[in-house]
Amino acid sequence: MILGIDLGTTNSLAAIWRDGKAHIIPNALGEHLTPSCVGLDDDGTILIGKAARERLQTHPHLTTAVFKRYMGSDKRIRLGEQEFRAEELSSMVLRSLKEDAEAFLGQKIEEAVITVPAYFSDAQRKATRAAGQLTGLKVERLLNEPTAAALAYGIQDREQESKFLVFDLGGGTFDVSILELFDGVMEVRASAGDNFLGGEDFTNTIADAFSKYSGLEKHLNGQPLDLATQQRLRDEAERVKRNLTETAALEMSLRYQDQDYRWEVNEEAFARLCEPLLARLRLPVERALRDSTIRPAELNTVVLAGGATRMPIVRKMVARMFGRFPAMQLDPDEAIALGSAVQAGLKMRDAALEEVVMTDVSPYSMGIATSRQIGPNQYSPGHYLPIIERNTPVPVSRTKNVTTISDYQKKLNVVIYQGESRLVDNNVYLGKIEFDIPAKKAGEITVDIRFTYDISGVLEAEAHILATQEKHKVVITENAGVMTPEEIEQRLAALADLKIHPRDQIENRTLLARADRLYELSLGDARDFLASHIAAFQAALETQNPLRVREARAQLTEVLDHVEGEGYF
Ligand code: AMP
Repeated sequence: MILGIDLGTTNSLAAIWRDGKAHIIPNALGEHLTPSCVGLDDDGTILIGKAARERLQTHPHLTTAVFKRYMGSDKRIRLGEQEFRAEELSSMVLRSLKEDAEAFLGQKIEEAVITVPAYFSDAQRKATRAAGQLTGLKVERLLNEPTAAALAYGIQDREQESKFLVFDLGGGTFDVSILELFDGVMEVRASAGDNFLGGEDFTNTIADAFSKYSGLEKHLNGQPLDLATQQRLRDEAERVKRNLTETAALEMSLRYQDQDYRWEVNEEAFARLCEPLLARLRLPVERALRDSTIRPAELNTVVLAGGATRMPIVRKMVARMFGRFPAMQLDPDEAIALGSAVQAGLKMRDAALEEVVMTDVSPYSMGIATSRQIGPNQYSPGHYLPIIERNTPVPVSRTKNVTTISDYQKKLNVVIYQGESRLVDNNVYLGKIEFDIPAKKAGEITVDIRFTYDISGVLEAEAHILATQEKHKVVITENAGVMTPEEIEQRLAALADLKIHPRDQIENRTLLARADRLYELSLGDARDFLASHIAAFQAALETQNPLRVREARAQLTEVLDHVEGEGYF
């Protein structure tokens, strides 16, 4: 069985293809979304998912989230005394999804299709693969998230020929793709995006506006908020973001140093505050349309994916942009995971999917640095020579040749970049190959540079010296953000030694984490009330009597729902 996985910035989901259909797999708590959060429990065991998210506020130094943003970089994220890379934290989320799926299906899972933003760079894709390897999952196929969303929709009406635009706004990334389904072939015509724009930015906008208009900022006078209060402010902002509707205004409040801060916001004001973010959403849409040479009127469907497209201000903007309402048959949180299960089904060659073929494109251009002649024997270095241009269908292999510019030069240095800028300094450095060449007069040595970009978005480059028939294959390993196979091997052993919180107790642990969070938020009588219920639950846990534990869990859940619903704090 191949598992489809949407490894999201905020939440992750797993799905499988079974009985001719994609199904989301519930986690140990019976929920579809597993928060992409990792933390250390008080006894040093690792908590993954909702239990960790509950502790973001109460134990900010022991908990971490939104690490997908650091995939493919060498940033280390601190949890207590330990440090982890983003791919290691991602591997813990993958591990939790894998174990939940195994428990649900009653069988071992060894392979997965994992989705990545279409705009992910080579290093970020390699990091995602490494996260799979660190989990003991074979990841032969990475699937672009918008392609997955379209696949989830395309399968439903594959009788029709269709042109889709997928508008995918997740927690931390934004992707736009234009796809065409024709005779059972799904072709990605163009994709564009912004790796640093997502639902979290809308939350931050609300939090910032709150600080400004409630008087908190003035009170702070440049001092930062403590981490726990920062988290409370973010939670309040998140609540408001999710609940704003056309009609009612919502009040936000925050208690800080014995003072209450309040601010009221309605949808119109929210839309005004978010105007810069909404403007940034328009740019990739325009670029993708231009690249695909498809006019907005030719699109059959606009598909929404990513939890942040639930925001009415985003839906309205999309409707205004395209002059029609977007498709909303699937839950935008689930579309990508369902599509990854479709791809997993394809890979398993399920009979029901045989006639659907997928094609994809390279999301950015890739090329090398060259020098341009600006006069006799005068060259200007640092120019970009694209070899594979953006939005070329993949897999693809393209060759360009370069010749020497100095007499008797003995070495050639091929420097590889990705990006769209005319000058390489503005593009992303990927790696280089240096090799010896026969010392001849300028222009006498020609080298073919071949780039091969595979269906999972991994680049290989090869230099072929025509005079000697020598070939140098390029393995791009110099990127500090990419783990070497040795590092992966080493960290695999280290991660295997980590103690992970037992899966069968995660429901109780999550409830306790939530209770602790609410206790810290409450004051006075509400605190007392909570403390006695928490103590009763802990006493029930100690009896290890499953029936009592279940009853006590239901009771405490009811109490917490009540406390949270009433906003006691
Ligand atoms: P994803 O990465 O697709 O899981 O997207 C999660 C993002 O969607 C987060 O920024 C959430 O705050 C946002 N989100 C989820 N549900 C809603 C909702 N009902 N209204 C507004 N934003 C939401």
